[in-house]
Amino acid sequence: MPLELVTLPCLADNYAYLIHDPATGATGVVDVPEAAPILAELARREWVLSDILLTHHHDDHIGGVAALRAATGARVWGAAADRHRLPPLDKALGEGDAVPFGSQSAAVLEVPGHTIGHIAFVFAEAGLAFTGDSLMAAGCGRLFEGSPEQMWASLQKLAALPDATRICSGHEYTAANLRFAAAVEPANPAIAARTLRVMKARGEGRPSVPSRLSGERATNPFLRANLPEMKAAVGMSGASGAEVFAALRAQKDRF
Ligand code: ZN
Ligand code: FE
Repeated sequence: MPLELVTLPCLADNYAYLIHDPATGATGVVDVPEAAPILAELARREWVLSDILLTHHHDDHIGGVAALRAATGARVWGAAADRHRLPPLDKALGEGDAVPFGSQSAAVLEVPGHTIGHIAFVFAEAGLAFTGDSLMAAGCGRLFEGSPEQMWASLQKLAALPDATRICSGHEYTAANLRFAAAVEPANPAIAARTLRVMKARGEGRPSVPSRLSGERATNPFLRANLPEMKAAVGMSGASGAEVFAALRAQKDRF
């Protein structure tokens, strides 16, 4: 049975995601930028929050945890590696751990780069991956703590998921990310087509996320760093995927 997924805008450009298992009533939220919109949506749907899943320690992903936990008593799950700078955790997680959720479970992937303790949650049966600020729609998070090699390895892990996986990322950055993608690969028709779809969605006030992994493969420059056409586009034909990724990430920081 599929999980219900709700994409909730929070703060200026963050997203929290509600997941609900209709078979068991289990209800989770991935990242808590602020508590109020999450509590309002839970009340509106009459869902009882059971689990709070955290991708990484940045304030815009955990700012509402204390208030949300106080209001709901939900369990808090987050990376063991960042235990010292996350809100108090009920369960500390590392690579390969499973988070039981209703009739399903989520696998934990360690995806360092944006931060060292960044994790992603993969609900294989439901085809959902919560990637926070690691793999993002048409982009990836800035390297605040990790190296390009670490982020490249993290993205490769996520890229190994099935094509149809829905990528639930932490911010509404897609339009700006696509401008960079188009500057790097101006002849890629999938980028132009996706840009039109994203402009339409944003114009109608709809989120541009989640996205499909297949679409990320076709348009996200940071997933494409190992392709011959991308290496040619950036004039690095002899370089490794990690080297091209590092160059693209540095270029995006200045874009
Ligand atoms: Zn962040
Ligand atoms: Fe963020």
